[in-house]
Amino acid sequence: MSTETEGTTEDRRKYEFRKVIEELQEYEGSGTQLVTIYIPEDKQISDVVAHVTQEHSEASNIKSKQTRTNVQDALTSIKDRLRYYDTFPPENGIVIFSGAVDSGGGRTEMVTKTLESPPDPIESFRYHCDSDFLTEPLEHMLADKGLFGLIVLDRREANVGWLKGKRVEPVKSASSLVPGKQRKGGQSAQRFARLRLEAIDNFYQEVAEMANDLFVPKRHELDGILVGGPSPTKDEFLDGDYLHHELQDTVLGKFDVSYTDESGLYDLVDAGQEALADQAIVEDKNLMEEFFENLHTGEKATYGFEQTRRNLIMGSVDRLLLSEDLRSDVVVYECPNGHEEFEVVDSRHSTPDHECAECGEEAAVQEREDVIEHLMAIAEQRGTETKFISTDFEKGEQLLDAFGGTAGLLRYSTGV
Ligand SMILES: [Zn+2]
Repeated sequence: MSTETEGTTEDRRKYEFRKVIEELQEYEGSGTQLVTIYIPEDKQISDVVAHVTQEHSEASNIKSKQTRTNVQDALTSIKDRLRYYDTFPPENGIVIFSGAVDSGGGRTEMVTKTLESPPDPIESFRYHCDSDFLTEPLEHMLADKGLFGLIVLDRREANVGWLKGKRVEPVKSASSLVPGKQRKGGQSAQRFARLRLEAIDNFYQEVAEMANDLFVPKRHELDGILVGGPSPTKDEFLDGDYLHHELQDTVLGKFDVSYTDESGLYDLVDAGQEALADQAIVEDKNLMEEFFENLHTGEKATYGFEQTRRNLIMGSVDRLLLSEDLRSDVVVYECPNGHEEFEVVDSRHSTPDHECAECGEEAAVQEREDVIEHLMAIAEQRGTETKFISTDFEKGEQLLDAFGGTAGLLRYSTGV
């Protein structure tokens, strides 16, 4: 399997996870009766069964009969699901959601979902019983990845670390021997100023060395560096070319933060939110620019479900562009005379009746499938890379609103 195909499969899995999470977020229980358990890969299934059994017996103390029954039913469903596993869960662990959700009109419906092998390892065992399902840890895993370098400094101390996805990881710190502004008696003002500048310069070099050691080996994976601190320290540090030249080009911005200890790294991430969000959609923006250029000047662009699908099947699509917010299904119809036709419908709507455009006969539904899954499956067979495009910028919104959320950059012009 080529890495490209693996990447696509991973995207597809992520999309499937995202869809399930969106569905789970919609659910609500009338009481504290929706159970979620996160099981890391190194947790023995027998331990989990023991825990669930314990919760089941403790649930007998719940005063409301309805809630009690609902919680115990949820726990029984979870125990049933756990039977499918041997000693340990599969790679990265499993998450099980179970509970009686409101289905309108005072009625409830039992829902149980298992998500196996999430994109990142589940770090700790969690048992959660509430009026909604616990989805945040999974949402964090699906959030935009990214690797950023963080530097905070003033003239007294400095900290460097990583921002990995949404997690801040402090790595190294240094403190300086820069003397204060007050000189001791007997020292000449000139000499004092020179020593002080030297000490500052030395400290900046030390900080840069610390940052270079950490970031240079990772420079090809690095999505950018944020620098924080009071003025003029961070400006002096950046303007003085202390950082390795290859790192200098990756600095996304400098930000005012008051603390330069470890907590300053967290403040820096807060202060740099906008720059980080821009960086996260840089690739999306470039792809949409390329698409519009091809649309206006060349013929190596396609859009809309049918046209894109046709090009995909021909193998002429280099990169498939799908809007992250596209939630549509493709319905395949076949009439009694064997004519096959498609219709794209909103995922939330029921399947409409369809009259064959060729012969006017009533056509029967053959299949209904999520548009993204349908197109990604073809893309995988044809070696086409799939790119999800955010709607957090104008051209990304246009992809969804004006082009049906589906477009492609072609390998060659096809005239289709
Ligand atoms: Zn027909």
